[in-house]
Formats: sequence, structure tokens, C-alpha cells
Amino acid sequence: MTVARILMGKGRSVATVRRDDTIAAAARELSLRKIGALVVVENDKVVGILSERDIVRSIGVEGPGVLDQKVERHMTSKVVTCVETQSVRDVMGIMTAGRFRHVPVVREGRLDGIISIGDVVKHRLDELESEQQAMRDYIAQTA
Ligand code: AMP
Repeated sequence: MTVARILMGKGRSVATVRRDDTIAAAARELSLRKIGALVVVENDKVVGILSERDIVRSIGVEGPGVLDQKVERHMTSKVVTCVETQSVRDVMGIMTAGRFRHVPVVREGRLDGIISIGDVVKHRLDELESEQQAMRDYIAQTA
């Protein structure tokens, strides 16, 4: 199963933010959309990622003044991305190795979707369920 297949089900729109937006605006966006991360873009190119963890960590270290600061001060700039032809298993490995829960999808250098740990887990559960069903069908046929 590929990343493209997951995107076919969930769509390719991604919640984004700009590097000069404030952390308060980003936190508002995360809360309104009930999501865990925003991709930071400039001319459709990925320049960073800001997750709820970045905000909590920064507030924990520097205090609530962080809310008035720019996203670029608190985002991760070295973003690991994937392409739609990669397998979901690949992306699972990327998340495990990097210890993060979001992987933006890029196409010809532009943002084209995002895969979250929730998408990966849902895909895996669906896969296990159909494997189990296939096994049940096989047993029923051969019994
Ligand atoms: P998350 O698990 O996605 O909430 O993110 C945990 C940490 O990893 C935060 O510091 C994020 O900015 C960072 N992060 C999230 N996704 C990525 C990614 N695809 N590439 C690099 N860093 C990331």
C-alpha cells in the first residue's frame, strides 16, 4: 500500500502556516482544526514544521511570552518528507526512526499532502482486519 492510496481517501489539503505568523495564531489553528502539526510553507515549498510539542516545549522553557513570537523561531527547519509512491511501511519506519508523528508529502518540490501517525495506524488496522478475514474465509473453505 502506498502513500498515494492513503491520500486518495483523506485528500491532499494540508493545514499550513507562515514563518512570520505568531505562535498564538498557530496554536489557535491547531486547536480549531483539532490537529497536531502545521506545515510551514513559503511559495508552496516546505520550509518547516511546527507541532504541538514544539509549542509546549517552548512555553515550558521560555514561558508564555513565546505566544507573541514568530513561528520560525520554534519550528523544525529540517523537515523529513516523503513522496506518494513510497509505501506506508516506509513512512512508518521514517516516523519511528525520527520519533515524530507527521510526514509531509511533496511532489516536484511542492507540498502535496501529509501523512500522520493516525493515518498509518488506521491503515495498519484495516490491513490486519482484511488479513484476518482472508484467513477466516480460507479456514471456512477448507473445513
Ligand atoms: P510530532 O511528533 O509530529 O508532534 O513532532 C515531534 C517533533 O518532531 C517536533 O519538534 C516537530 O517539529 C518535529 N517533526 C515533526 N514532523 C517532522 C518531520 N516530518 N521532519 C522533521 N521533524 C519533524
